[in-house]
Amino acid sequence: MSILVVGSVAFDSLETPSGKRERVLGGAATHFALAASFFTDVRVVGVVGEDFLPEHERVLTVKGVDTKGIERAPGKSFHWTGSYLTDLNAAHTLATDLNVFAEFSPKIPEGYEESDFLFLANIDPVLQLQVRKQMPKVKMVAGDTMNYWIGAHREKLLPVLQELDVLLINDNEARMLSGETNGVKAAEGVLKLGPKTVIVKYGEHGSAAYFSDRSFGDGVKRRPFRTHTVPLQEVVDPTGAGDSFAGGFYGYVASQKVLTPEVFRTAMFYGSVMGSFAVEAFGTEKLQQTTRKDVDERFALLREISHL
Ligand code: AMP
Repeated sequence: MSILVVGSVAFDSLETPSGKRERVLGGAATHFALAASFFTDVRVVGVVGEDFLPEHERVLTVKGVDTKGIERAPGKSFHWTGSYLTDLNAAHTLATDLNVFAEFSPKIPEGYEESDFLFLANIDPVLQLQVRKQMPKVKMVAGDTMNYWIGAHREKLLPVLQELDVLLINDNEARMLSGETNGVKAAEGVLKLGPKTVIVKYGEHGSAAYFSDRSFGDGVKRRPFRTHTVPLQEVVDPTGAGDSFAGGFYGYVASQKVLTPEVFRTAMFYGSVMGSFAVEAFGTEKLQQTTRKDVDERFALLREISHL
């Protein structure tokens, strides 16, 4: 099974209480692909500029990620500047330089449309929809978004939500999207906008899945399922935590034959595990060093602290 992911491949300049870094490799599709590569084949569709060097591409290819769909364009790669000085659970955007993303029109390389799983990582919803339409055969579609698109481009986002089997979203974004202040009502409100299932991320406090009666195709609406995060002494850089969660979650789902409630729950545990690695160093540093053995050990730890 393989996942096709479309999203940003970027350079990030970051400041957190642990320090500052300029132009480290990042992007929603990059973090997602690295995390998902532990579980399944991943193909990336995106665009980069002339500053994206072979050493950057190797970060993905050494993990077996297929980068054929990363287009090169004249100019600079997408560059995001973010700060977490006031709150480690919420990124504060200082600058978004779209650069080559401004003119991006995603093209699916030949053979990629056969991918079984599609992940629409954080990107302009118009582009997300464009990719969805080019992939009519996929078995499952999951996606992410952010406050920027919910606030200023809601009308572009709504048709994307209709296409999603699973939407992954932050708590404050779920409240913003639904207009509800209560967390449970917010998640239920988001389900009414189209996604069959919603995973709400609560930063260091974990995440919860909210199901509709369309989640597993049997007309049964199940109770929400909640996961913790792995307790860490220090969060160095939260950037990519959400995308790495999504990569762990979706990578595990894609590695299984059928999506049962049990597979879904296990996948959420893998999501938490991959998110916990991502935040331990700046950019993609930690996920680059992580091994499958590390993943298995952390999964066992999370299981242990989560069970009576
Ligand atoms: P998260 O997992 O939510 O922390 O996502 C972090 C990644 O999102 C960073 O590596 C950024 O490069 C990327 N990003 C930030 N803003 C945008 C945007 N407007 N569109 C696409 N990607 C973005």
